Amino acid sequence: MGQILDGKKLAQHLGRDLADQVADLKKHGILPKFCVINIGDDQASKVYVESKKRKAEKLGIKQVVYQLPADESEEDVLKLIDSLNADPEVMGLMVQLPVPEQIDSDKVIERIDPEKDVDGLTPANIGRLWQGKHFVEPATAAGIISLLDHYGIDLNGKNAVIVGRSNIVGKPLAALMLERNASVSILHSHSRKLGDLTRRADVLVSAVGKAGMITKDMVKPGAVVVDVGINRVNGKLAGDVDFDQVKDVASYITPVPGGVGPLTVEFLMEEVIKLTRRHHGLD
Ligand code: NDP
Repeated sequence: MGQILDGKKLAQHLGRDLADQVADLKKHGILPKFCVINIGDDQASKVYVESKKRKAEKLGIKQVVYQLPADESEEDVLKLIDSLNADPEVMGLMVQLPVPEQIDSDKVIERIDPEKDVDGLTPANIGRLWQGKHFVEPATAAGIISLLDHYGIDLNGKNAVIVGRSNIVGKPLAALMLERNASVSILHSHSRKLGDLTRRADVLVSAVGKAGMITKDMVKPGAVVVDVGINRVNGKLAGDVDFDQVKDVASYITPVPGGVGPLTVEFLMEEVIKLTRRHHGLD
């Protein structure tokens, strides 16, 4: 059986370091403050916002949630973003996705000051990411890279295959893997003969959101398998990877839960701290 890539344990370890960094900033009279705008009643979003809040509290980061009604106008959301952009106490700002239909998510994200863009989703920060000159990294992608680093998995010269091309996971992960000199392929719903392509992967990442879609026959023996997917199956959390089968061919594999998920929230907090330090000229 492949070795488990234990994201939960790594997140706990990193959390202690982040708490020390926050304590150090406070000694210098600096309080990292982070704002989340959540619009509407999406149940998954509420769970994510709550888990960020708990993590921020634990680390000593000040987090403010702006919970807006589902019928909030785009204009009012933009005004709120403008006011938080202008607030010198706010170091990080994000809009929880998805947003209700009447709001153009690209437009609201573009309005966030790139210096406060903790998710790294503004066009300016996406551009910097692909130039290899970024100061903020999308949290899930950063968490995956740190997990691979922690287990000594070198990406240099490897074939990395990412299933899923979202702006929040697949694309930024591809940029970070390229930076590490992997040869990267990004697959999506139009990719043909998925198994032929995934079987070429030394490192296979699935970020789709379909339980059990990565089966044993799609994985090269000895590959590293990272499962980003979060699905509910009969009330239980499951990834995209058929874990019970794939664990027998993979050299390393992430579980769900306990793999990538705990690292995402940890790395979001790390981005808040990074932006705070940058704002105060500490790096
Ligand atoms: P999106 O829905 O934005 O993207 C899904 C991607 O999967 C798309 O690129 C889509 O292709 C592709 N896809 C869909 N069906 C297939 C298929 N049959 N074959 C190949 N590709 C397919 O999702 P996200 O990136 O936001 O999230 C993906 C998953 O990861 C979700 O389960 C989400 O909950 C989870 N997630 C987990 C996080 C964590 O911390 N663990 C953080 C963020 C997300 P196309 O572009 O052509 O539509």
